[in-house]
Amino acid sequence: MENEVKKNNGADQEDKENHEKEKINGKTHVQGQVREYKPLLEKERVEYAREIFRSKGYAEKWKKLSPLFLKAKQEKDLNIKEIQEEIIKLKKEKEALILAHNYMLPEIQEIADFVGDSLELAIKAAESSHQLIVFCGVHFMAEGVKVVSPEKTVLLPRLEAGCFMADMINISALRKFKEKYPGRPVVCYINTDAEVKAESDICCTSANAVSIVKSVNSPEVLFIPDRNLGLYVQRFTNQRIIPWDGWCNVHHRFKPEDIIRLREKHPDVIVVVHPECSPEVIDLADEVFSTGGMVKFAKESPHKKIAFATEEGLVERIRRENPDKQILSVGSPKTCVNMKSIRIQDVLESLKELKYKIEVPEEIIEKARIPLIRMLEISRGKEFTRKIFERHQLPNIKT
Ligand code: SF4
Repeated sequence: MENEVKKNNGADQEDKENHEKEKINGKTHVQGQVREYKPLLEKERVEYAREIFRSKGYAEKWKKLSPLFLKAKQEKDLNIKEIQEEIIKLKKEKEALILAHNYMLPEIQEIADFVGDSLELAIKAAESSHQLIVFCGVHFMAEGVKVVSPEKTVLLPRLEAGCFMADMINISALRKFKEKYPGRPVVCYINTDAEVKAESDICCTSANAVSIVKSVNSPEVLFIPDRNLGLYVQRFTNQRIIPWDGWCNVHHRFKPEDIIRLREKHPDVIVVVHPECSPEVIDLADEVFSTGGMVKFAKESPHKKIAFATEEGLVERIRRENPDKQILSVGSPKTCVNMKSIRIQDVLESLKELKYKIEVPEEIIEKARIPLIRMLEISRGKEFTRKIFERHQLPNIKT
């Protein structure tokens, strides 16, 4: 890997300009050429992914989580204010930092110290002096916080809050994938368990996936686990992306018809979609942004009517933050049942009983930090990365 990642602190200026041009000219164009992409994978790999998905008990998990989600809705008449006040009091007493992902219920976002995406939250946790972190998000994200700040106590209010996409790959599946394509570096989307990161070469987020893949000095890269994000990146690079066949249970549900119908009703709407959406949906969008990019775009865009294809919690946040604009959802609102399984009373219980503590084996932490450090060095610079990791008095790792 030493020679595979260009040590250039990010995509060069020309790449950035091309990326901007490509974004403006349309998502199916690469340097003025319409690019062909083949989303279909070999049957064998599709079957394999499904097998893992099944073995993780998807159906069981879904059955278990759905009633919880419904329950959360029925509990709306609980005295949320009282619970929030109790949390704020306890948070001070225990000197805890509460971090909430953008997809959390609004009442949780309201009491959080920071709301953001998984990487932003992991960085906030690392930068803060708090030793106790209550992480309101899903399991792989809480693990990510522990990997970056191993000396801190990281609590996840509901242990079942997993991620369907992260569950679509595990360490043995990744090893087989690597055996099938030997010598290709693995670019690992941040939505993965720590042990999968530990087996990868470099991490990426939906915001930096294009520049991270371009920084990898290899004509072919394995991209895990989100197929749609991998195919999106493929539009901007001549490297061959070999994607794993995973998907997000929220973003993959948006359909091209949702956008067609929306435009019929609102011809003046600007449609913004997440790169975890399918290629067909991306083709019909005006803009493609990560969650952080969506928040920024909504604030800065002069357009008054914007529709988003992303998790409804984020759409609600954007709506709250932009009262002067008409913020719409593309199609019916889509929610992540895992994220929404965390309720405000779970956060209170978590603080009271200090549960559930996230533990990651030391050797996994050491290995999983390497692809994260490589990503941060490219996307945020070496100085920033050094500061983040030095705070935690961890040994220097040769990347
Ligand atoms: S929104 Fe998608 S990627 Fe995010 S936690 Fe839910 S299933 Fe996973």
